[in-house]
Amino acid sequence: MPPLPYAENALAPVISAKTVGFHYGKHHKGYVDNLNKLVAGTEYADAPLEKIITDTAGKADKALVFNNAAQVWNHTFYWKSLRAKGGGEPPAALKRKIEASFGSVDVCKKEIANAAVSQFGSGWAWLVLNGDKLEIIKTANADTPLASGTKPLLAIDVWEHAYYLDYQNRRADYVNAVLDKLLNWEFALQNAG
Ligand code: FE
Repeated sequence: MPPLPYAENALAPVISAKTVGFHYGKHHKGYVDNLNKLVAGTEYADAPLEKIITDTAGKADKALVFNNAAQVWNHTFYWKSLRAKGGGEPPAALKRKIEASFGSVDVCKKEIANAAVSQFGSGWAWLVLNGDKLEIIKTANADTPLASGTKPLLAIDVWEHAYYLDYQNRRADYVNAVLDKLLNWEFALQNAG
């Protein structure tokens, strides 16, 4: 279980300490515990998480291992995609890439919000690098860009457990608040390097 990169109350009031506590301590930990049980004594017992994910992606008989492994990876990535006092202007090097791909940072943020809000049911919105172009994609349930060969830069969890205690059914309010106040553009730049 990778440590949370900040205190549980660091993202408040955008995401409350209660939400982070349940999300990290129950949901994220649940995927870690499930995965450890599922791979115990198998060829994946000591395999790196990324290898488990790419090996089991798309294999119906390995779906349970894939779902839990991908959710462990996705959540670790999500926590790093957020930071206290985030949002605002991306660093210049990332801003140039964003402008080359989307025209402006605002358009990029709108596309992330659209993907996050329009994802039907549980899933994720992602800023990814595809070749040298930035793209916005959404994935359902546990699915992850790692499985489709694009390079994730940022993730927003849009499972109800990520926002329901704070925003109830108002997913768009959660997404826009994350984009404006918590998004860790420095992490995105690090991943793009
Ligand atoms: Fe989650």
